[in-house]
Amino acid sequence: RNVLHWFRSKDLRAEDNRALHAASLKAKEGSGTLLACFLFSPQDLEWHGTSTARTNFMLEGTRILQEQLEELNIPFLPLVAEERKDKGARILEVLEKHDISHLYANIELEVDELRRDLDLFSKLEENDKNDVQFVLHHDQTVVLPRTLKTGAGGPMKVFTPYHKAWLAEVAGDPSLIDTLPPPQANDKSVKTSSKFKGLFGQSLPEPPKSRHYASDEERKRIQKLWPAGHATGMKRLGEFLDDKISTYATNRSTPAADNSSRLSAFFSSGMISVREALGAGREKLNDGSADFSSSGCDAGLAAWVRELVFREFYRHMMTVTPHNGMNLPQNLKYDFIQWEDDEEGWQKWCEGKTGVPFVDAGMRQLNTEAYMHNRLRMNTASYLRTNLLIDYRKGERYFAEHLVDWDLCNNTQGWEPSYTVFNPVVQAEKCDPQGDFIRQWVPELRDVEGKAVFDPYHRLGKEEFEKLGYPKPHVDFQESKARCVERYKQDMADA
Ligand code: FAD
Repeated sequence: RNVLHWFRSKDLRAEDNRALHAASLKAKEGSGTLLACFLFSPQDLEWHGTSTARTNFMLEGTRILQEQLEELNIPFLPLVAEERKDKGARILEVLEKHDISHLYANIELEVDELRRDLDLFSKLEENDKNDVQFVLHHDQTVVLPRTLKTGAGGPMKVFTPYHKAWLAEVAGDPSLIDTLPPPQANDKSVKTSSKFKGLFGQSLPEPPKSRHYASDEERKRIQKLWPAGHATGMKRLGEFLDDKISTYATNRSTPAADNSSRLSAFFSSGMISVREALGAGREKLNDGSADFSSSGCDAGLAAWVRELVFREFYRHMMTVTPHNGMNLPQNLKYDFIQWEDDEEGWQKWCEGKTGVPFVDAGMRQLNTEAYMHNRLRMNTASYLRTNLLIDYRKGERYFAEHLVDWDLCNNTQGWEPSYTVFNPVVQAEKCDPQGDFIRQWVPELRDVEGKAVFDPYHRLGKEEFEKLGYPKPHVDFQESKARCVERYKQDMADA
Protein backbone atom coordinates (compact mmCIF):
# COMPACT_ATOMS: atom_id res chain seq x y z
CA ARG A 1 0.00 0.00 0.00
CA ASN A 2 1.06 3.63 -0.52
CA VAL A 3 1.96 6.61 1.63
CA LEU A 4 0.69 10.19 1.27
CA HIS A 5 2.27 13.39 2.56
CA TRP A 6 -0.20 16.27 2.88
CA PHE A 7 1.56 19.66 2.52
CA ARG A 8 -0.02 22.52 4.40
CA SER A 9 0.55 26.23 3.86
CA LYS A 10 3.40 26.23 6.43
CA ASP A 11 5.71 23.45 5.22
CA LEU A 12 6.08 24.05 1.49
CA ARG A 13 9.53 22.51 1.03
CA ALA A 14 11.05 19.09 0.33
CA GLU A 15 14.17 19.69 2.48
CA ASP A 16 14.18 19.25 6.25
CA ASN A 17 10.49 18.48 6.36
CA ARG A 18 9.79 16.23 9.35
CA ALA A 19 6.54 14.61 8.22
CA LEU A 20 7.64 14.28 4.59
CA HIS A 21 10.87 12.61 5.68
CA ALA A 22 8.97 10.17 7.89
CA ALA A 23 6.53 9.47 5.05
CA SER A 24 9.43 8.71 2.74
CA LEU A 25 10.94 6.23 5.23
CA LYS A 26 7.54 4.57 5.71
CA ALA A 27 7.06 4.16 1.94
CA LYS A 28 10.51 2.55 1.61
CA GLU A 29 9.88 0.28 4.58
CA GLY A 30 6.66 -1.07 3.06
CA SER A 31 7.84 -0.92 -0.56
CA GLY A 32 4.96 1.40 -1.37
CA THR A 33 4.90 4.58 -3.44
CA LEU A 34 5.19 7.99 -1.84
CA LEU A 35 2.61 10.53 -3.06
CA ALA A 36 2.17 14.15 -2.02
CA CYS A 37 -0.77 16.53 -2.10
CA PHE A 38 -1.65 20.13 -1.33
CA LEU A 39 -5.24 21.04 -0.52
CA PHE A 40 -6.30 24.48 -1.74
CA SER A 41 -9.28 25.99 -0.04
CA PRO A 42 -10.31 29.31 -1.61
CA GLN A 43 -12.77 29.82 1.26
CA ASP A 44 -9.91 29.51 3.77
CA LEU A 45 -7.97 32.22 1.97
CA GLU A 46 -11.05 34.43 1.93
CA TRP A 47 -11.84 33.67 5.58
CA HIS A 48 -8.40 34.72 6.75
CA GLY A 49 -8.24 37.61 4.26
CA THR A 50 -4.96 36.12 2.96
CA SER A 51 -3.25 38.71 0.78
CA THR A 52 -2.78 38.45 -2.97
CA ALA A 53 0.96 38.64 -2.34
CA ARG A 54 0.99 35.68 0.03
CA THR A 55 -1.39 33.63 -2.12
CA ASN A 56 0.84 34.10 -5.17
CA PHE A 57 3.99 33.44 -3.18
CA MET A 58 2.46 30.19 -1.92
CA LEU A 59 1.24 29.10 -5.35
CA GLU A 60 4.60 29.84 -6.97
CA GLY A 61 6.46 28.00 -4.20
CA THR A 62 4.07 25.06 -4.57
CA ARG A 63 4.68 24.96 -8.32
CA ILE A 64 8.45 24.82 -7.73
CA LEU A 65 7.94 22.11 -5.10
CA GLN A 66 5.81 20.08 -7.50
CA GLU A 67 8.59 20.17 -10.11
CA GLN A 68 11.16 19.14 -7.53
CA LEU A 69 9.08 16.19 -6.29
CA GLU A 70 8.21 15.05 -9.78
CA GLU A 71 11.94 14.89 -10.54
CA LEU A 72 12.01 12.34 -7.71
CA ASN A 73 9.12 10.43 -9.36
CA ILE A 74 6.79 11.52 -6.55
CA PRO A 75 3.30 12.39 -7.86
CA PHE A 76 2.00 15.71 -6.57
CA LEU A 77 -1.77 16.11 -6.37
CA PRO A 78 -3.18 19.63 -6.22
CA LEU A 79 -6.59 19.23 -4.57
CA VAL A 80 -9.30 21.86 -4.24
CA ALA A 81 -11.99 22.03 -1.56
CA GLU A 82 -14.44 24.69 -2.75
CA GLU A 83 -16.10 24.74 0.67
CA ARG A 84 -14.13 24.66 3.91
CA LYS A 85 -16.22 21.80 5.21
CA ASP A 86 -15.18 19.58 2.26
CA LYS A 87 -11.52 19.37 3.20
CA GLY A 88 -11.77 16.03 5.02
CA ALA A 89 -13.84 14.55 2.20
CA ARG A 90 -11.22 15.51 -0.42
CA ILE A 91 -8.49 13.77 1.56
CA LEU A 92 -10.65 10.68 2.11
CA GLU A 93 -11.21 10.39 -1.64
CA VAL A 94 -7.45 10.35 -2.25
CA LEU A 95 -6.84 7.80 0.52
CA GLU A 96 -9.40 5.51 -1.07
CA LYS A 97 -8.44 6.02 -4.68
CA HIS A 98 -4.70 5.53 -4.23
CA ASP A 99 -4.75 2.77 -1.64
CA ILE A 100 -3.05 4.82 1.08
CA SER A 101 -2.09 3.10 4.33
CA HIS A 102 -0.34 6.07 5.97
CA LEU A 103 -1.16 9.77 5.78
CA TYR A 104 1.54 12.15 7.07
CA ALA A 105 1.33 15.87 7.80
CA ASN A 106 2.95 18.54 9.96
CA ILE A 107 0.83 20.00 12.74
CA GLU A 108 -0.58 23.49 12.38
CA LEU A 109 -1.16 25.00 15.80
CA GLU A 110 -4.17 27.24 15.25
CA VAL A 111 -7.64 26.20 16.43
CA ASP A 112 -9.28 25.98 12.99
CA GLU A 113 -6.49 23.87 11.62
CA LEU A 114 -6.46 21.58 14.67
CA ARG A 115 -10.23 21.16 14.27
CA ARG A 116 -9.77 20.23 10.63
CA ASP A 117 -7.37 17.46 11.70
CA LEU A 118 -9.67 16.22 14.47
CA ASP A 119 -12.49 16.16 11.95
CA LEU A 120 -10.40 13.95 9.70
CA PHE A 121 -9.60 11.58 12.57
CA SER A 122 -13.37 11.19 13.19
CA LYS A 123 -14.12 10.79 9.49
CA LEU A 124 -11.55 8.00 9.27
CA GLU A 125 -13.36 6.26 12.10
CA GLU A 126 -16.87 6.86 10.72
CA ASN A 127 -15.87 5.59 7.31
CA ASP A 128 -14.35 2.43 8.68
CA LYS A 129 -10.93 3.56 7.63
CA ASN A 130 -9.23 2.43 10.77
CA ASP A 131 -6.62 0.77 8.61
CA VAL A 132 -5.30 4.22 7.59
CA GLN A 133 -2.82 5.74 10.03
CA PHE A 134 -2.93 9.53 10.21
CA VAL A 135 0.45 10.60 11.58
CA LEU A 136 1.19 14.18 12.65
CA HIS A 137 4.66 15.61 13.21
CA HIS A 138 5.93 18.82 14.83
CA ASP A 139 7.97 20.76 12.32
CA GLN A 140 7.44 24.48 12.75
CA THR A 141 9.76 25.14 15.68
CA VAL A 142 13.11 23.99 17.01
CA VAL A 143 11.85 23.66 20.58
CA LEU A 144 8.38 22.13 20.78
CA PRO A 145 5.62 24.39 22.07
CA ARG A 146 4.90 23.82 25.78
CA THR A 147 8.17 22.06 26.57
CA LEU A 148 9.71 25.06 28.35
CA LYS A 149 8.09 25.35 31.76
CA THR A 150 8.22 27.71 34.72
CA GLY A 151 9.59 26.57 38.09
CA ALA A 152 6.00 25.80 39.11
CA GLY A 153 5.59 23.46 36.14
CA GLY A 154 3.26 25.57 33.98
CA PRO A 155 4.03 26.80 30.46
CA MET A 156 6.24 29.90 30.32
CA LYS A 157 4.33 33.07 29.42
CA VAL A 158 7.00 35.77 29.48
CA PHE A 159 9.45 36.24 26.62
CA THR A 160 12.72 37.07 28.44
CA PRO A 161 12.84 33.91 30.59
CA TYR A 162 11.55 31.90 27.63
CA HIS A 163 14.41 33.20 25.47
CA LYS A 164 16.95 32.29 28.14
CA ALA A 165 15.51 28.80 28.61
CA TRP A 166 15.34 28.31 24.82
CA LEU A 167 19.04 29.18 24.42
CA ALA A 168 19.97 26.73 27.18
CA GLU A 169 17.79 24.00 25.65
CA VAL A 170 19.42 24.31 22.21
CA ALA A 171 22.98 24.66 23.55
CA GLY A 172 22.31 21.55 25.67
CA ASP A 173 21.01 19.53 22.73
CA PRO A 174 22.49 20.81 19.45
CA SER A 175 20.84 17.95 17.56
CA LEU A 176 17.63 20.01 17.81
CA ILE A 177 18.84 22.02 14.84
CA ASP A 178 20.05 19.12 12.73
CA THR A 179 18.29 19.02 9.39
CA LEU A 180 16.82 16.13 7.39
CA PRO A 181 17.38 15.34 3.70
CA PRO A 182 14.64 15.54 1.04
CA PRO A 183 12.58 12.38 0.49
CA GLN A 184 14.08 9.46 -1.38
CA ALA A 185 13.02 9.08 -4.99
CA ASN A 186 10.34 6.61 -5.98
CA ASP A 187 11.28 4.04 -8.54
CA LYS A 188 11.15 5.63 -11.99
CA SER A 189 8.61 3.06 -13.16
CA VAL A 190 6.05 5.09 -11.13
CA LYS A 191 6.05 7.70 -13.89
CA THR A 192 5.01 5.18 -16.52
CA SER A 193 2.86 2.82 -14.45
CA SER A 194 -0.83 2.78 -15.36
CA LYS A 195 -1.70 3.52 -11.71
CA PHE A 196 0.21 6.79 -11.37
CA LYS A 197 1.30 8.24 -14.69
CA GLY A 198 -1.78 10.49 -15.10
CA LEU A 199 -0.97 12.12 -11.76
CA PHE A 200 2.16 13.90 -12.97
CA GLY A 201 2.19 17.45 -14.32
CA GLN A 202 -1.22 18.48 -13.00
CA SER A 203 -1.94 22.20 -13.10
CA LEU A 204 -2.21 24.12 -9.87
CA PRO A 205 -5.46 26.01 -9.37
CA GLU A 206 -5.79 29.64 -10.35
CA PRO A 207 -5.72 32.07 -7.42
CA PRO A 208 -9.22 32.79 -6.12
CA LYS A 209 -10.97 35.90 -7.38
CA SER A 210 -11.72 37.64 -4.14
CA ARG A 211 -12.31 41.29 -3.39
CA HIS A 212 -8.71 41.51 -2.20
CA TYR A 213 -7.42 40.30 -5.52
CA ALA A 214 -5.16 42.67 -7.40
CA SER A 215 -4.96 43.30 -11.14
CA ASP A 216 -2.68 41.07 -13.24
CA GLU A 217 -0.19 43.90 -13.59
CA GLU A 218 -0.07 44.49 -9.83
CA ARG A 219 0.24 40.77 -9.25
CA LYS A 220 3.25 40.52 -11.55
CA ARG A 221 4.94 43.50 -9.93
CA ILE A 222 4.63 41.96 -6.46
CA GLN A 223 5.65 38.52 -7.68
CA LYS A 224 8.85 40.04 -9.03
CA LEU A 225 9.55 41.58 -5.63
CA TRP A 226 9.00 38.25 -3.85
CA PRO A 227 10.35 35.29 -5.83
CA ALA A 228 9.45 32.06 -4.05
CA GLY A 229 10.87 28.57 -3.46
CA HIS A 230 13.35 26.83 -1.21
CA ALA A 231 16.42 27.54 -3.36
CA THR A 232 15.61 31.27 -3.49
CA GLY A 233 15.11 31.33 0.28
CA MET A 234 18.42 29.57 0.94
CA LYS A 235 20.23 31.97 -1.39
CA ARG A 236 18.69 34.92 0.43
CA LEU A 237 19.69 33.37 3.77
CA GLY A 238 23.31 32.88 2.59
CA GLU A 239 23.54 36.49 1.38
CA PHE A 240 22.13 37.81 4.65
CA LEU A 241 24.59 35.77 6.74
CA ASP A 242 27.50 36.91 4.54
CA ASP A 243 26.67 40.56 4.75
CA LYS A 244 23.81 42.30 6.57
CA ILE A 245 23.97 40.23 9.73
CA SER A 246 27.27 41.88 10.67
CA THR A 247 25.40 45.14 11.38
CA TYR A 248 22.06 43.59 12.39
CA ALA A 249 22.58 44.10 16.13
CA THR A 250 23.01 47.86 15.73
CA ASN A 251 20.83 48.54 12.68
CA ARG A 252 17.87 46.22 12.96
CA SER A 253 15.58 49.01 14.16
CA THR A 254 16.72 51.47 11.50
CA PRO A 255 14.31 50.94 8.61
CA ALA A 256 16.29 53.03 6.11
CA ALA A 257 19.20 50.59 6.52
CA ASP A 258 16.94 47.74 5.32
CA ASN A 259 19.18 45.56 7.42
CA SER A 260 16.95 42.60 8.20
CA SER A 261 16.81 39.31 6.30
CA ARG A 262 13.41 39.73 4.61
CA LEU A 263 13.03 35.99 5.07
CA SER A 264 9.68 36.17 6.87
CA ALA A 265 7.63 35.04 3.85
CA PHE A 266 9.88 31.97 3.58
CA PHE A 267 9.49 31.12 7.26
CA SER A 268 5.74 31.68 7.35
CA SER A 269 5.14 29.40 4.36
CA GLY A 270 7.84 26.96 5.46
CA MET A 271 9.79 27.41 2.22
CA ILE A 272 12.85 27.29 4.44
CA SER A 273 12.96 25.84 7.94
CA VAL A 274 14.14 27.63 11.03
CA ARG A 275 16.54 24.71 11.63
CA GLU A 276 18.12 25.36 8.23
CA ALA A 277 18.56 29.03 9.16
CA LEU A 278 20.10 28.25 12.55
CA GLY A 279 22.27 25.48 11.09
CA ALA A 280 23.65 27.88 8.47
CA GLY A 281 24.30 30.50 11.17
CA ARG A 282 26.05 27.92 13.34
CA GLU A 283 28.38 26.88 10.50
CA LYS A 284 29.08 30.31 9.01
CA LEU A 285 29.39 32.47 12.10
CA ASN A 286 29.61 30.34 15.21
CA ASP A 287 32.34 27.74 14.58
CA GLY A 288 29.78 24.94 14.64
CA SER A 289 28.54 25.84 18.14
CA ALA A 290 24.84 25.87 19.05
CA ASP A 291 25.40 28.46 21.79
CA PHE A 292 23.49 31.45 20.38
CA SER A 293 23.60 33.57 23.55
CA SER A 294 25.13 37.04 23.35
CA SER A 295 28.12 35.88 25.39
CA GLY A 296 28.56 32.74 23.28
CA CYS A 297 28.32 34.06 19.74
CA ASP A 298 28.64 36.83 17.19
CA ALA A 299 26.53 39.85 18.23
CA GLY A 300 24.62 40.02 14.94
CA LEU A 301 23.77 36.33 15.02
CA ALA A 302 22.69 36.47 18.69
CA ALA A 303 20.37 39.41 17.94
CA TRP A 304 18.90 37.66 14.88
CA VAL A 305 18.36 34.38 16.71
CA ARG A 306 16.49 36.34 19.38
CA GLU A 307 13.94 37.33 16.70
CA LEU A 308 13.62 33.72 15.59
CA VAL A 309 12.97 32.84 19.23
CA PHE A 310 10.15 35.42 19.23
CA ARG A 311 8.67 33.42 16.38
CA GLU A 312 9.00 30.21 18.43
CA PHE A 313 7.56 31.91 21.52
CA TYR A 314 4.48 33.08 19.57
CA ARG A 315 3.85 29.53 18.35
CA HIS A 316 4.23 28.26 21.91
CA MET A 317 1.83 30.94 23.20
CA MET A 318 -0.78 30.02 20.57
CA THR A 319 -1.08 26.66 22.34
CA VAL A 320 -1.27 28.36 25.77
CA THR A 321 -4.00 30.86 24.77
CA PRO A 322 -5.64 29.21 21.74
CA HIS A 323 -8.53 31.72 21.78
CA ASN A 324 -5.97 34.18 20.40
CA GLY A 325 -6.35 32.44 17.04
CA MET A 326 -10.13 32.98 17.17
CA ASN A 327 -10.21 36.76 16.89
CA LEU A 328 -9.85 37.31 20.63
CA PRO A 329 -6.99 39.06 22.46
CA GLN A 330 -4.62 36.97 24.55
CA ASN A 331 -5.61 39.05 27.55
CA LEU A 332 -9.41 38.76 27.37
CA LYS A 333 -9.89 41.98 29.32
CA TYR A 334 -9.00 43.91 26.16
CA ASP A 335 -12.11 42.48 24.54
CA PHE A 336 -14.17 44.90 26.68
CA ILE A 337 -12.68 48.07 25.19
CA GLN A 338 -15.21 50.31 23.45
CA TRP A 339 -13.48 51.16 20.19
CA GLU A 340 -14.08 54.33 18.18
CA ASP A 341 -15.97 54.20 14.93
CA ASP A 342 -13.70 56.66 13.10
CA GLU A 343 -14.16 55.88 9.41
CA GLU A 344 -12.15 58.88 8.28
CA GLY A 345 -9.24 58.00 10.58
CA TRP A 346 -9.39 54.40 9.36
CA GLN A 347 -9.21 55.40 5.68
CA LYS A 348 -6.33 57.77 6.38
CA TRP A 349 -4.45 55.06 8.25
CA CYS A 350 -4.94 52.54 5.41
CA GLU A 351 -3.74 55.00 2.78
CA GLY A 352 -0.82 56.40 4.78
CA LYS A 353 -2.39 59.87 5.08
CA THR A 354 -2.71 60.31 8.85
CA GLY A 355 -0.45 63.36 8.83
CA VAL A 356 2.11 61.51 10.99
CA PRO A 357 5.11 60.94 8.69
CA PHE A 358 6.59 57.81 10.32
CA VAL A 359 3.20 56.06 10.39
CA ASP A 360 2.37 57.12 6.83
CA ALA A 361 5.77 55.95 5.56
CA GLY A 362 5.15 52.49 7.05
CA MET A 363 1.66 52.14 5.58
CA ARG A 364 2.85 53.26 2.16
CA GLN A 365 5.67 50.73 2.28
CA LEU A 366 3.09 48.03 3.09
CA ASN A 367 0.75 49.09 0.30
CA THR A 368 3.60 49.10 -2.22
CA GLU A 369 5.86 46.23 -1.19
CA ALA A 370 3.46 43.85 0.61
CA TYR A 371 6.00 44.12 3.45
CA MET A 372 6.68 46.51 6.30
CA HIS A 373 9.77 46.86 8.49
CA ASN A 374 9.23 45.56 12.05
CA ARG A 375 9.72 48.98 13.68
CA LEU A 376 7.02 50.44 11.44
CA ARG A 377 4.68 47.53 12.14
CA MET A 378 5.01 48.39 15.83
CA ASN A 379 4.36 52.08 15.24
CA THR A 380 1.48 51.78 12.78
CA ALA A 381 -0.22 49.20 15.02
CA SER A 382 0.21 51.34 18.11
CA TYR A 383 -1.16 54.39 16.29
CA LEU A 384 -4.32 52.56 15.17
CA ARG A 385 -5.19 50.86 18.44
CA THR A 386 -4.23 53.70 20.79
CA ASN A 387 -4.21 57.13 19.10
CA LEU A 388 -7.09 56.39 16.74
CA LEU A 389 -8.61 53.95 19.26
CA ILE A 390 -9.86 51.79 16.39
CA ASP A 391 -10.46 48.08 17.01
CA TYR A 392 -7.03 46.48 16.60
CA ARG A 393 -8.66 43.55 14.77
CA LYS A 394 -9.37 45.79 11.79
CA GLY A 395 -5.66 46.55 11.54
CA GLU A 396 -4.72 42.93 12.04
CA ARG A 397 -7.02 42.01 9.15
CA TYR A 398 -5.60 44.79 6.97
CA PHE A 399 -2.11 43.41 7.55
CA ALA A 400 -3.33 39.89 6.61
CA GLU A 401 -4.83 41.32 3.43
CA HIS A 402 -1.58 43.00 2.40
CA LEU A 403 1.49 41.24 3.85
CA VAL A 404 3.41 38.69 1.79
CA ASP A 405 4.60 37.12 5.06
CA TRP A 406 1.22 37.00 6.81
CA ASP A 407 1.43 34.56 9.68
CA LEU A 408 -1.42 34.19 12.13
CA CYS A 409 0.76 33.61 15.23
CA ASN A 410 3.12 36.53 14.56
CA ASN A 411 0.44 38.90 13.36
CA THR A 412 -2.13 38.43 16.12
CA GLN A 413 0.54 38.62 18.80
CA GLY A 414 2.18 41.63 17.17
CA TRP A 415 -1.24 43.32 17.32
CA GLU A 416 -2.09 42.32 20.92
CA PRO A 417 -3.38 45.51 22.63
CA SER A 418 -1.34 46.99 25.46
CA TYR A 419 -1.00 50.25 27.36
CA THR A 420 2.18 51.12 25.46
CA VAL A 421 1.58 54.16 23.28
CA PHE A 422 4.47 54.77 20.89
CA ASN A 423 5.22 58.40 20.17
CA PRO A 424 5.79 58.19 16.38
CA VAL A 425 7.70 61.48 16.26
CA VAL A 426 10.16 60.41 18.97
CA GLN A 427 10.36 56.95 17.36
CA ALA A 428 11.18 58.48 13.98
CA GLU A 429 13.88 60.72 15.46
CA LYS A 430 15.47 57.69 17.08
CA CYS A 431 15.08 55.07 14.35
CA ASP A 432 15.17 57.21 11.22
CA PRO A 433 17.54 59.96 12.43
CA GLN A 434 18.22 61.42 8.97
CA GLY A 435 14.56 61.10 7.92
CA ASP A 436 15.64 58.97 4.93
CA PHE A 437 12.91 56.36 5.33
CA ILE A 438 10.22 59.03 5.60
CA ARG A 439 11.51 60.88 2.54
CA GLN A 440 11.68 57.61 0.59
CA TRP A 441 8.03 56.73 1.21
CA VAL A 442 6.35 60.11 1.60
CA PRO A 443 7.31 62.11 -1.49
CA GLU A 444 5.40 65.20 -0.28
CA LEU A 445 8.12 65.53 2.37
CA ARG A 446 11.11 64.80 0.14
CA ASP A 447 12.35 68.39 0.20
CA VAL A 448 11.63 69.13 3.85
CA GLU A 449 14.95 69.74 5.56
CA GLY A 450 16.18 68.81 9.02
CA LYS A 451 13.98 67.70 11.89
CA ALA A 452 10.83 69.28 10.43
CA VAL A 453 10.39 66.10 8.39
CA PHE A 454 9.39 64.22 11.57
CA ASP A 455 6.50 66.56 12.39
CA PRO A 456 5.99 69.10 9.60
CA TYR A 457 2.65 70.42 10.86
CA HIS A 458 4.14 71.60 14.15
CA ARG A 459 7.65 72.40 12.96
CA LEU A 460 7.07 74.41 9.79
CA GLY A 461 5.34 77.77 9.38
CA LYS A 462 1.67 77.59 8.35
CA GLU A 463 2.30 78.71 4.80
CA GLU A 464 5.26 76.44 4.27
CA PHE A 465 3.25 73.47 5.58
CA GLU A 466 0.29 74.17 3.36
CA LYS A 467 2.49 74.21 0.25
CA LEU A 468 3.50 70.60 0.86
CA GLY A 469 0.09 69.11 0.04
CA TYR A 470 0.56 66.80 3.06
CA PRO A 471 -2.34 66.30 5.55
CA LYS A 472 -2.29 67.74 9.05
CA PRO A 473 -2.39 65.15 11.87
CA HIS A 474 -5.79 63.47 12.12
CA VAL A 475 -5.60 63.51 15.94
CA ASP A 476 -3.48 65.40 18.45
CA PHE A 477 -0.92 63.01 19.91
CA GLN A 478 -1.12 64.00 23.59
CA GLU A 479 -4.92 64.29 23.64
CA SER A 480 -5.42 60.97 21.88
CA LYS A 481 -2.92 59.26 24.18
CA ALA A 482 -4.77 60.54 27.26
CA ARG A 483 -8.13 59.44 25.75
CA CYS A 484 -6.75 55.95 25.15
CA VAL A 485 -5.26 55.46 28.62
CA GLU A 486 -8.50 56.66 30.20
CA ARG A 487 -10.67 54.40 27.99
CA TYR A 488 -8.52 51.31 28.56
CA LYS A 489 -8.50 51.93 32.32
CA GLN A 490 -12.24 52.48 32.51
CA ASP A 491 -13.36 49.63 30.23
CA MET A 492 -10.96 47.09 31.66
CA ALA A 493 -12.00 47.98 35.19
CA ASP A 494 -15.64 47.34 34.17
CA ALA A 495 -14.69 44.00 32.60
P1 FAD B 1 14.33 39.60 10.57
O1 FAD B 1 14.63 40.76 11.42
O2 FAD B 1 15.36 39.19 9.59
O3 FAD B 1 13.98 38.39 11.54
C1 FAD B 1 14.13 37.01 11.16
C2 FAD B 1 12.84 36.26 11.34
O4 FAD B 1 12.46 36.23 12.71
C3 FAD B 1 11.66 36.87 10.61
O5 FAD B 1 11.67 36.51 9.25
C4 FAD B 1 10.49 36.31 11.40
O6 FAD B 1 10.20 34.98 11.03
C5 FAD B 1 11.04 36.30 12.82
N1 FAD B 1 10.69 37.56 13.50
C6 FAD B 1 11.32 38.76 13.41
N2 FAD B 1 10.73 39.66 14.21
C7 FAD B 1 9.71 39.02 14.81
C8 FAD B 1 8.73 39.42 15.75
N3 FAD B 1 8.67 40.66 16.24
N4 FAD B 1 7.80 38.52 16.12
C9 FAD B 1 7.84 37.25 15.66
N5 FAD B 1 8.76 36.81 14.77
C10 FAD B 1 9.68 37.68 14.36
N6 FAD B 1 5.88 38.55 11.12
C11 FAD B 1 5.46 37.66 10.21
O7 FAD B 1 6.22 36.78 9.80
N7 FAD B 1 4.16 37.70 9.74
C12 FAD B 1 3.26 38.62 10.18
O8 FAD B 1 2.09 38.60 9.76
C13 FAD B 1 3.70 39.60 11.12
N8 FAD B 1 2.87 40.57 11.55
C14 FAD B 1 3.32 41.48 12.48
C15 FAD B 1 2.43 42.46 12.96
C16 FAD B 1 2.85 43.39 13.90
C17 FAD B 1 1.88 44.43 14.40
C18 FAD B 1 4.17 43.34 14.39
C19 FAD B 1 4.64 44.34 15.40
C20 FAD B 1 5.05 42.38 13.93
C21 FAD B 1 4.65 41.44 12.97
N9 FAD B 1 5.53 40.44 12.48
C22 FAD B 1 5.06 39.53 11.57
C23 FAD B 1 6.90 40.30 13.04
C24 FAD B 1 8.02 41.05 12.29
O9 FAD B 1 7.65 42.37 12.06
C25 FAD B 1 8.39 40.40 10.95
O10 FAD B 1 8.60 39.01 11.12
C26 FAD B 1 9.69 40.99 10.39
O11 FAD B 1 9.54 42.38 10.23
C27 FAD B 1 10.00 40.34 9.06
O12 FAD B 1 11.14 40.90 8.48
P2 FAD B 1 12.48 40.04 8.34
O13 FAD B 1 12.19 38.69 7.78
O14 FAD B 1 13.45 40.87 7.59
O15 FAD B 1 12.90 39.88 9.86
